[in-house]
Amino acid sequence: MSLEPEDHAEIRESVRRVCAAFPGEYWRGCDRDGRYPAEFVKAVTEAGFLGALIPEEFGGSGLPLSAAAAILEEIHASGGNGAACHAQMYIMGTLLRHGSEEQKRAWLPGIASGALRLQAFGVTEPGSGTDTSSIRTFAERRGDEYVVNGQKVWTSRAEHSDLMLLLARTTPKERAAKRTDGLSVFLLDMREALGRGLTIRPIRTMMNHSTTEVFFDDVRIPAACLVGEEGKGFRYILSGMNAERILIAAECAGDARWFLGKAADYARERIVFGRPIGQNQGVQFPIAKAYARMCAAQLMVARACQLYEAGRNCGAEANMAKLLAADASWEAAEACLQTHGGFGFAEEYDVERKFRETRLYQVAPISTNLILSYLAEHVLGLPRSY
Ligand SMILES: Cc1cc2nc3c(=O)[nH]c(=O)nc-3n(C[C@H](O)[C@H](O)[C@H](O)COP(=O)(O)OP(=O)(O)OC[C@H]3O[C@@H](n4cnc5c(N)ncnc54)[C@H](O)[C@@H]3O)c2cc1C
Repeated sequence: MSLEPEDHAEIRESVRRVCAAFPGEYWRGCDRDGRYPAEFVKAVTEAGFLGALIPEEFGGSGLPLSAAAAILEEIHASGGNGAACHAQMYIMGTLLRHGSEEQKRAWLPGIASGALRLQAFGVTEPGSGTDTSSIRTFAERRGDEYVVNGQKVWTSRAEHSDLMLLLARTTPKERAAKRTDGLSVFLLDMREALGRGLTIRPIRTMMNHSTTEVFFDDVRIPAACLVGEEGKGFRYILSGMNAERILIAAECAGDARWFLGKAADYARERIVFGRPIGQNQGVQFPIAKAYARMCAAQLMVARACQLYEAGRNCGAEANMAKLLAADASWEAAEACLQTHGGFGFAEEYDVERKFRETRLYQVAPISTNLILSYLAEHVLGLPRSY
C-alpha cells in the first residue's frame, strides 16, 4: 500500500532510519511511566532535524516548511510522537521574523544546535481559553526590566526547555485601543527565572505530553528580552500560527498513515470465520474511507506549504490542512481500533496509545470550532461569531 508522499524522499528516509531505533516498545514505556522521551529528542536533535527551519547563517539547515512537515509526518508515521520536540522547530519563527539582529545572533545558533531548548510557548491561560486577547498575565516595565505576574496553563515541555516564548499584557485590555493591542512577546530565560518567582507544575493528561501550568510571581525579565515592539505581540504570535498549523497537520497525516498501515496489516492477517476479516466490506470500507480522507488532507498540507513557501497568504489553507488532517487521523484511529477488535485495547499493539495521542488535535493547538469560525468569517464572509 502506498501511503507515503513522494516529496523530500531522502529526508523522509533519514527520519525513518532514526525512528527505527525507537520502536513501539520505547514509546509504550515512556507513556506508561509518564516519561519525557529524552533519548528520542536527543537523537532527532543530533540528526539536525529540529534546526530544519533555521537559516544556514544562524547554524540551521535553512530548509523549506514542506521539509519540516515531511520530518514530522515521518516521526508520526513511524509510531512515534513529535510533540516532545516539535516546538523547537517552529517557535523560533517569531524570533526570526520579529527579533532584532542582536537577539537572533544571540539565540538562534544555540537553538539550531539544540544546546538551547526553546520548547515552551506560554500563551494559554486558565481564565481566557481560546480568547487570547483576554489573557491577564502582566509584564510591567520598571527601568531596564519587566516584572511579570500571572499564570499560564498547558505550557507544554516547560520542564524540558531553557527558554519560553511568553505572551503577556503590557497595557491593560481596557486601556488598549483594540483588544489585540497591548500584548507583548518575550523570550524568557527560564533557567534564570526558576526559583526566582517562576514555578512550573506538571499536569497529568490522558496521553504522555509533558504539559504544565506555570506561575509568575514578580519574575524579572531584562527589557532586552522583549521581541519586536511593545504592544504588537498578538500580531507576532499570529504570524507564526500558519506554520504551526501546517506542521501539526503533517503530524496528523503521519498518525493517519500509521493507523491505516496497522489496520490494513491486521485486517489481512486476522482470520475469523475461516477468512481474513479484511475480506468483509464492513471492515474494508472504514479503512478505505479514512485512506481517501488522509490523501485529501495530505494534498491540503502540500498546498498550504506551497503558498507559505511562496510568501503568499495561506491562512485558509493552513487552517483547512489542520482541520482535514486532524479529522483524517481521528477517523483512521477509529477505523484502526475497530479493526483490531479487543486487541485494539491492549497496550502492546500501540493502537490505544496512538488513539489517545491523536485525539488531542481536535482541541489543540486550535480547536476544530475555531477553525470553522475562521473559514466562515474570513473565507465565506459570514458575520464574526465571537
Ligand atoms: C495537551 C495540551 C497541550 C497544549 N500545549 C499548549 C502550549 O504549549 N502552549 C499554549 O499556550 N497552549 C497550549 N495548549 C492549549 C490549547 O491551545 C487550548 O487548550 C486550546 O486552544 C483550547 O483552549 P481551551 O482549552 O481554553 O478551551 P476553551 O477556549 O475553554 O474552549 C472550550 C471548548 O469550547 C469551544 N469554543 C470556545 N469558544 C468558542 C466559540 N466562540 N465558538 C465555538 N466554539 C467555541 C472550543 O472549541 C472548545 O471545544 C495545550 C492544550 C493541551 C490540551
